[in-house]
Amino acid sequence: MKGVIQIARIFGIPVQVHWTFVLIFLWVLIKGLGEAWDWYTIGWMMAFVLAIFFCVVLHEFGHALTARRFGVDTRDIILSPIGGVARLDRLPENPMHEFLVAVAGPAVNVGISLTLSVFPLAISGHSRDKFYNFFMSLAYPGSNVFAVGLSAFDYFLFGLIFLNIILAVFNMLPAFPMDGGRVLRALLSLRMGRLRATRLASYIGQVLAVGLVIFGIWQFSVVTAVVGVFVFVMAVNEYRMVRFDGLLDQYTVADVVRPAFTPLYGDEPLKAAIDRLQHGSERHFLVFDRWQNILGTLSEHKLMKLAKQKDTDLQKPLSEVVKRRYEVLLLQDSMREAFPKVSWKGQGILPVYHKHRLVGVVDRESLDYLVKLKGKGA
Ligand SMILES: [Zn+2]
Repeated sequence: MKGVIQIARIFGIPVQVHWTFVLIFLWVLIKGLGEAWDWYTIGWMMAFVLAIFFCVVLHEFGHALTARRFGVDTRDIILSPIGGVARLDRLPENPMHEFLVAVAGPAVNVGISLTLSVFPLAISGHSRDKFYNFFMSLAYPGSNVFAVGLSAFDYFLFGLIFLNIILAVFNMLPAFPMDGGRVLRALLSLRMGRLRATRLASYIGQVLAVGLVIFGIWQFSVVTAVVGVFVFVMAVNEYRMVRFDGLLDQYTVADVVRPAFTPLYGDEPLKAAIDRLQHGSERHFLVFDRWQNILGTLSEHKLMKLAKQKDTDLQKPLSEVVKRRYEVLLLQDSMREAFPKVSWKGQGILPVYHKHRLVGVVDRESLDYLVKLKGKGA
């Protein structure tokens, strides 16, 4: 994804932040200076934003680690000012698994809320009163009677407890892309096929979205109306995606395999591969050693990148630029599994085997062809 920086890799999953995330801190700073807060308060607010951000990361790991238990990998976790998303490689097959994966995120926030509540509720009567006052001041905004005697730390702690509850509740709204949409789909899938379940969940989400837009206009709340439009688009998208998965299910690698391809060799210079790209119709290549073993793959993207760099040595042997880690496809593999392998993991091309023999390749162009030919209206 464009505009993201990786900040960590936890349990083997890259955690990335979108640059716009910085805007939140900027907003806190501008608001703080505008309202003449002291630096101590501004510092606490910044810490609060960081803590919320950390809770969102934990929420996403709730999804990712539960998915891992069911054999589904997570490509990455991306955080932006509007929230986080754990991009799973695919949907869990079993509806019960999807249910658990979806519920795990909000459950993490509920867990955080409960854990943090132990401090003010169990320790002393005094902090229990303050806790009560904090929630009363939320219930009666504008009334400062309740908020007396709360320290910056109280606000930090109680705010965190409160926002985790909000995160859990908001995420359980029964509409895509919220977790509640997935929970609803999973529950419906127990009674009907996933496609029908998704269509029904998508309709429910769309109705909810239209409701949000109307409510937003009625209340003059631009944010609510925009969220409504966003939810509507996502609800429609989710249905399309699942329909596309359904389409891929009908095909196997045998339907798209290309038996004829031009082999490149590891001792050929880089120039040879770039020439092949310029004058031929193939965009991605398999590279072999002289005993006809595959060394790895070379994608158009990689070749173009090398060709554009000024200091690239065009005489460099291909064995030095080849991508050596690649997966293999079998002729009978479902396209549902093969599609993400070819399109996402950056190879652009994968070898296809049948009975231990290399029988052809599937590349990104084969996928485009399948989508164009069969995916009309998908
Ligand atoms: Zn979630």
